[in-house]
Amino acid sequence: MLKTLKLYDTMDKSLREISAIDKKSVRFYCCGPTVYGPAHIGNFRTFVLQDIFRRTVELSGQKTKHVRNITDVDDKTIRESQASGQSLTDFTKKWAHQFHIDCQKLNLLIPDIEPLATEHIPEQINMIQTLIDKGLAYQSKDGSVYFDVSEFKDYGRLSKINSRELKEGASKGLNDSDEYGKDSLSDFALWKSIKAEDGDNFWESPWGQGRPGWHIECSAMIKKHLGDDFDLHSGGVDLIFPHHENEIAQSCGSSGKPFANHWFHITHLMVDGGKMSKSLGNLYTISDLEGRGYHPMIVKYSLIMGHYKQTLNFTFDSLNAAKIGLDRLAKLKSELIGLAGSMPACDRYKDFVKEGPVNLGFFNKAWCSLLEDLNTAKALGALFSAVKELESGIRGKTLGSKEAGKHLKGLLFISEALGIKIPTIEEQHVQIPNKIKELAKQRWQAKMNKNWKEADRLRKELESSGWQIKDLKDNFEILPL
Ligand code: AMP
Ligand code: ZN
Repeated sequence: MLKTLKLYDTMDKSLREISAIDKKSVRFYCCGPTVYGPAHIGNFRTFVLQDIFRRTVELSGQKTKHVRNITDVDDKTIRESQASGQSLTDFTKKWAHQFHIDCQKLNLLIPDIEPLATEHIPEQINMIQTLIDKGLAYQSKDGSVYFDVSEFKDYGRLSKINSRELKEGASKGLNDSDEYGKDSLSDFALWKSIKAEDGDNFWESPWGQGRPGWHIECSAMIKKHLGDDFDLHSGGVDLIFPHHENEIAQSCGSSGKPFANHWFHITHLMVDGGKMSKSLGNLYTISDLEGRGYHPMIVKYSLIMGHYKQTLNFTFDSLNAAKIGLDRLAKLKSELIGLAGSMPACDRYKDFVKEGPVNLGFFNKAWCSLLEDLNTAKALGALFSAVKELESGIRGKTLGSKEAGKHLKGLLFISEALGIKIPTIEEQHVQIPNKIKELAKQRWQAKMNKNWKEADRLRKELESSGWQIKDLKDNFEILPL
């Protein structure tokens, strides 16, 4: 019998084993991206952890069904599509495509189903109607429909919010930033009646033209693709309240049945000790960091250096540390291949899923750290203890070919569990964008011409793009800052 993953449950506040309610597959839902711009690396901390969750469950012998939605209609997508002069569909398709490119660069498994909110309008309308029929929702004078929080006695179970806090939060607009004609401040919108600024973005409904509220899409898509009760629901911690609390109210309120059996929330990624935000200029995307010479696997590695329950601080020092870690793994991998004489027969994710965690040897500790609440920080620590042992075996020439083959397989298994594709040293080599090379050339020319002012200006421009110039005797070198 294989060991099973134990994961902290936000609802129960305890570690619980992950198992399938239907005894067939672990059905889980992840709230996906809102596609109005590129996802930032904070979003990817959450998506990477959800990917490692899936890998750990599958590698320990259970099947999964993974659903992750795309939010392609809300206040932000409508506002930004209009600002760009594109239709909502064209605009959100473009950003969903960019999201998929980034997911591929980060080696994330593709969900089994990726439903769009705009393709599930009838399902959302049906659920709202059921809530109205059950006396849990009402239509206000302006045509919008609200969930009546006072009618759902379990409200606050997940976020542990009480009615006083709810009132205080609601008065600050925490539950729903849009102000329509609702009865109580803490009630939240299920259907928003059309406003002039919505333009063409509306649908017909029994309550007139409008669009769904923010929360109902997930409840409706979960019901359709996973059923009423399912194994696990996940997102970043910011979703605990109000989004997930409201999903529970909508889903349990309409079905009268249990909802998610387990709640998995990932703590936020911070940047230089603060919140990531566009206005502070510290919001990074995968492309930004590639532009500064960091391979996406380095970024991914840096995102798993802390346990998901703790805040993780992103810094360029942590990226550089991740790069050193990956370099070491790449070197060990190539040495083990050299000693073993070939790659092991089983070296791809699907093969490992079939075979399971056998003969992990030195790498068993890293695997056990994942099984214990997806502790990626501990897993990396254990992985590097194994690396150290093997490096000294290689240096001391005590590692035979058969043994090297076995350890190579262990190393590849753990890499697959973490979703880390170990890049070769060459692949990791800093890719300098052409634009940067051109600027550096111009700066060198300016310097040769003793045009110090221009050389200085170009140096500053390079620095603001994340690159520095090291002058050599009669040449120069470009390095990431
Ligand atoms: P959004 O595109 O804003 O709907 O967010 C997509 C996912 O990223 C959600 O699960 C959020 O909870 C999560 N998320 C947002 N910001 C961060 C952050 N700084 N760190 C980790 N996860 C985040
Ligand atoms: Zn959701």
